[in-house]
Amino acid sequence: MRASEGGSTVFKMIARVQPLTTTRAIRGPFDYRLRPEQADVEIGALLRVPFARRRALGVVVDLAGESELPPERLLEPDTVLPAGVPPDLVALAAWMAREYCSTMARCLSLMLAPGATGGVLPAEALVAEVTDAGRRLLAGAGDGALSSGAGNGARASGAGAGSPATNGARPLTARQLELLARLQHHGPTVAASLGTPALRRLERRGLVEIVSGKRERRPVRHSVGAGLGAAPALNAEQQEALERILEALEGAGDRRGFLLHGVTGSGKTEVYLRAVEATLEAGASAIVLVPEIALTPQTRARFQARFGDVVAVLHSALGQGERYDEWLRLRDGEARVCVGPRSAVFAPLKDIGLIVIDEEHDRSYKHESDPRYDARTVAARRAQDHGAILVAGSATPRPESTVSLNRLRLSQRVDRRPLPPVELLDMRGSHHPLHPETRLALADVRRARGKAIVLLNRRGWSNFLTCRACGQVWMCPDCDVALVLHRSSASTPAYVACHHCGHRERVPERCTSCRSVAVARHGAGTERLEHELRLAIGDSGFPVFRLDADVAAGKDRVARELTAFEAAPAGVLVGTQMVAKGHDFPDVTLGVVLDADQTLRFPDFRAEERTFALITQLAGRAGRGDRGGRVLVQTMAPSARAIVFAARHDADGFLADELRRRTALRYPPAGSLIRITCSAAELAAALSETRSVRDQILCPSATVLGPAPLFRLRGKARAQLVIKTTDRQAAIRAVGAAVDRVGAGAAQRGVSVSVDVDPQ
Ligand code: ADP
Ligand code: ZN
Ligand code: ZN
Repeated sequence: MRASEGGSTVFKMIARVQPLTTTRAIRGPFDYRLRPEQADVEIGALLRVPFARRRALGVVVDLAGESELPPERLLEPDTVLPAGVPPDLVALAAWMAREYCSTMARCLSLMLAPGATGGVLPAEALVAEVTDAGRRLLAGAGDGALSSGAGNGARASGAGAGSPATNGARPLTARQLELLARLQHHGPTVAASLGTPALRRLERRGLVEIVSGKRERRPVRHSVGAGLGAAPALNAEQQEALERILEALEGAGDRRGFLLHGVTGSGKTEVYLRAVEATLEAGASAIVLVPEIALTPQTRARFQARFGDVVAVLHSALGQGERYDEWLRLRDGEARVCVGPRSAVFAPLKDIGLIVIDEEHDRSYKHESDPRYDARTVAARRAQDHGAILVAGSATPRPESTVSLNRLRLSQRVDRRPLPPVELLDMRGSHHPLHPETRLALADVRRARGKAIVLLNRRGWSNFLTCRACGQVWMCPDCDVALVLHRSSASTPAYVACHHCGHRERVPERCTSCRSVAVARHGAGTERLEHELRLAIGDSGFPVFRLDADVAAGKDRVARELTAFEAAPAGVLVGTQMVAKGHDFPDVTLGVVLDADQTLRFPDFRAEERTFALITQLAGRAGRGDRGGRVLVQTMAPSARAIVFAARHDADGFLADELRRRTALRYPPAGSLIRITCSAAELAAALSETRSVRDQILCPSATVLGPAPLFRLRGKARAQLVIKTTDRQAAIRAVGAAVDRVGAGAAQRGVSVSVDVDPQ
């Protein structure tokens, strides 16, 4: 690293390296002495270093001229690996580690190039590197603007006969020289990211070496969704919203960020597209976060159709090689728009001008393992770091966002199509899973050869099994929850499964406690609903499709199922909340929600928000075309607040009411919550550790609730504390310190402690 200090250039030879270990007990960074040929190591570089008598990967988090330790006590890194962490993300990781009471190592690990933790480039990648001859040539070409390799100039000076920019043959063009210099600067680089043909020409002259066979690994595009490509003219509300965003992008107007609160089908995506277009025109880059990318192929396709190759997609279903290539295209500025799920918030883009969060209410933005970050909060932070504008959009925004962001309204569907009427169907006292009204409505759709979507937020066949003789319920051996029956398919025989830990076993033939063979099945999930709808109304002209986590486990199955449903002239799509996510199928005329109050039964302050969102979002799938639509909501709680507001399409009424309630209870956004969970083999140990943590939390402004036992999960007993506070930063500091103090001892006692800031 060359840094200019007082006009002269100094070499910083000490690298502060954060080893990427998962243990909390090891905090870095640690100092290493760089060798002269490692002098161009920069902040963010990925190194392999000797660490605790073995080798570890580490990221350079800082550089220094000298260490507190004498130089002879410092070790040297073994190697510098390609594709480190961009420096702005190193800073972001440091912030995240504090904000989520996690560790720098864990946060940095999220920001590495895909596959980098293996320490090797993906096998299929074709990697180019400058040869010694190439280096000599660059050195001989002088220290003009071309070469940035600091270490090689002195060593190789004078090598290479004749004119510097020749290699015995034709002189290199300026572009070729620049390419060679860039490659030397980056170190070994996937050839495609710099242009393979041009590199091949340099290879023929012995200046570049290219190893292993390279395939083009561009992600496959699925053609879900109509109206790609051409941009429709914006309506007045879209235009107004866009102008406010453009003002902010130009540096004028309010820069606090925007909440695009638009009813379903109001054309929010079109506003994002225009904002991205303006960002690109201004020379900046953009991140577009979408809930789960497999469920939002249409959004991805729209961005790709509009902007072409400048869009890169980071998608967990891509092969590692493909993801690595996309990551490199972003890092090298070849792609300037990144579309992806929550992890795309770490896209290695420079000069970010805009971050879009589509369907900002979606739960998938929260990461559910340490660090338990919220991509929406991280996006706001990253936007602030880059001076970028944040645009979060939803038909059912979180109360938090209505308070923290400027709200822009799209109150109408495009073309002023009405929102579909929502009818509540009271299921109290009913035994059949489908209300008679629902059955009639489905039959109507079938007769008219139309399309319907049916949502049941419960997968599997039956919820649980009991013994008819003694009443035993089949439970997961590792969790305090009932096993769910799954029906056999072409590839698997029937089985029962735990939806918390994934445990599976064969369907019991007899009761384990009384040996009775009479087993009763209770409740219905999506598998059974699919089956019954097939029997009742399905036929070759009216197929039944299903979408849930079991279907989604197959690679590309989600996209295929969505494509098939879209392509079919008529049919029903049955599934869990996945069917409610932002899909734009103009020919769906009926939406049905079964057991709408199911989400209300969770003991969680967000239960109402979630129920409101689920019904509103499902309603949003219906009536997007010329044929209009209607929505039926089956519920045991027809007068529940969330359900009544959703039926009236009254988002403002719901939000106002919800904000009042949350303020009274000091729930977000009126306060922050932090949850601490201790898990151990025995409940007593978990509870006692929770008590020690509680006693260590020194924060007078926070209210600490608990310990409260939780249900057993994956063989571990659990207990939790909940901290409620209006001084978020003070509480985070106090919790972080408490967990650090208790941490090492807890681990020895076999208790693991985890912290969740802003739990979902
Ligand atoms: P939302 O994201 O708000 O639910 P979409 O962005 O999916 O809505 O838009 C719904 C449909 O309307 C899409 O097919 C989109 O191409 C189309 N659309 C968007 N804006 C306009 C417009 N101004 N005029 C006509 N059609 C539009
Ligand atoms: Zn029994
Ligand atoms: Zn389990």
